Amino acid sequence: MTKCIFCEIANGRIPSIRIYEDNDFLAFMDINPVTTGHFLLTTRQHYAVIHETPDELLAKALPLAKRLAQAAMLGVGAAAYNLISNNGPESGQLVAHWHLHVIPRRRREELPLKAGEPADLTKLPFVADAIRANL
Ligand code: AMP
Ligand code: ZN
Repeated sequence: MTKCIFCEIANGRIPSIRIYEDNDFLAFMDINPVTTGHFLLTTRQHYAVIHETPDELLAKALPLAKRLAQAAMLGVGAAAYNLISNNGPESGQLVAHWHLHVIPRRRREELPLKAGEPADLTKLPFVADAIRANL
């Protein structure tokens, strides 16, 4: 069976820079951020796409995304944010474990969502600290 990278992150076998976790969810910094502070909110359990994710979890996901996004705006000094979820390969979903992108925004411009630059790993933990500090 093919290993799911986000399941491996959830169980700690692949490292991640986490900003939040509870029994149901995990939020960690995207390794190829399209803006400073770009992170992913995902479920601990594996569900490939949003329509396979239980409603009870989805009902908790948006209030949590709201809280995390506000922390990110304060933490990295953004004025706005995008919430994006790709569902299915044709939509551009690369990791088939449902997740929500939270992307802090500072100015109006097109989002080059597939053209994120590899993160500077000496700086990414400090960006995560800045978000956590505002939770
Ligand atoms: P999507 O196209 O919505 O499936 O996006 C998957 C996202 O996961 C991309 O933005 C990747 O940069 C991100 N990603 C892939 N592997 C990792 C990883 N090990 N740690 C953090 N983010 C990752
Ligand atoms: Zn998974």
